[in-house]
Amino acid sequence: MKTMTCKQLGGPCDLALSGDTADDVIQAQDRHLREAVKSGDSAHQEAHEAMKGRWRNPIRGMGWYRDTKKAFASLPEA
Ligand SMILES: [Zn+2]
Repeated sequence: MKTMTCKQLGGPCDLALSGDTADDVIQAQDRHLREAVKSGDSAHQEAHEAMKGRWRNPIRGMGWYRDTKKAFASLPEA
């Protein structure tokens, strides 16, 4: 299990998200962004749009995805 913050995943806050794989953490971030925006948090709007753009355009999102996986891999196991 490893932990990354919302900020490390391109978001604006320090909420910690944990998972066993980078994909788990990315999905947790996706959920967190969606919920934040739904509850009216405009600070998360931009990161939410960026995340949606990545799902829509996987080729363009690939660089971010690779970087995030690399950052996840370099974290110490907790
Ligand atoms: Zn956040």
